[in-house]
Amino acid sequence: MDAVLEVTDLSVAFSVRGSGWRPSKVTVVDRVSLQIAPGEIVGLVGESGSGKSTTARAVLRLIPSTGDGRIVLLGRDITHTKDRELRTHRRHAQMVFQDPYSSLDPAMTVGGLLAEAIAIDGKKRSKAAVRARSVELLEQVGLDEAHIDRYPAEFSGGQRQRVAIARALAPRPQLIVCDEAVSALDVSTQRQIVQLLKKLRDETGVAILFIAHDLAVVRRIAERTLVMYCGQVVEEGRSRDLFSTPSHPYTLALLSAVPVPSPARQRARRRIVLSGDVPNPADPPTGCRFHPRCPFAFEPCAETEPPRTTTAGGTVRCHLHGTGRQLPWAVEDREVAGLERAPHSVEV
Ligand code: SF4
Repeated sequence: MDAVLEVTDLSVAFSVRGSGWRPSKVTVVDRVSLQIAPGEIVGLVGESGSGKSTTARAVLRLIPSTGDGRIVLLGRDITHTKDRELRTHRRHAQMVFQDPYSSLDPAMTVGGLLAEAIAIDGKKRSKAAVRARSVELLEQVGLDEAHIDRYPAEFSGGQRQRVAIARALAPRPQLIVCDEAVSALDVSTQRQIVQLLKKLRDETGVAILFIAHDLAVVRRIAERTLVMYCGQVVEEGRSRDLFSTPSHPYTLALLSAVPVPSPARQRARRRIVLSGDVPNPADPPTGCRFHPRCPFAFEPCAETEPPRTTTAGGTVRCHLHGTGRQLPWAVEDREVAGLERAPHSVEV
């Protein structure tokens, strides 16, 4: 089957009021392209403010996109689909948000929350059928019938997120977008939810777009990863390749901040500490948007925007690629991944 989701050159711009009379446009997502195959888990990572969540909302048409980008869901172009038709398509793509405290109505029981999600497809069902499906959903996410009459406040954060996932599964979607869905949870609960999502993918074949700022979490779940910086995808590739031999300095810097299990290796590892924050998209740097923070910046970086070029298993936006200059690989990550040591590394 073709891709579940195919996004080409998606841009999102917001109007902001500056000091002048006229509002100006700020492009917060800039020509993002991505594809997700049936049953695939794709990670989207980047710092806060990089445009990940805006991309997710635009992909699901929760906010409008700008420019001439395209969103194709299950072979159907939904970029400009009107409300009624959009509702039909939307049930094929569901979202799980970061905060289950605010995404679940506290006044409804779990049974009510699930019944509401089950009814999205508009089919008539008996009460008994709705209850049976609700129990099935609860069991799929590791809860059971005893939880059906309880309210969200009676659950832990992890359990609440399980309920949110059960709601997302209710209309039998082909795609679930998890927007920082484990970020508010403790590490052990994060692991459980990641395992649950993998299990659900294996059982149902649902594709998952997994958005997070934490690379360690994305590495555990995603088969392919996209790295965003200041509204652009700067690197994309198979997770195994991207985490062991990153092609973009920003990916390398993010990876160098991921703790490794061995305390001795953690002390010895080289860390690339990025100064400053993600730039304001209202006033992005010229040339490569990463150049003011990039420890490897060289002559063309401040002037010329790097094109998107293909790598062995993906794409990268960096002038280093193809110049013969090599980016030092993340030595420790190659070791963690069980690969041979990188040929060289540098102190930054
Ligand atoms: Fe760094 Fe230049 Fe590559 Fe941008 S294009 S990431 S500034 S080396």
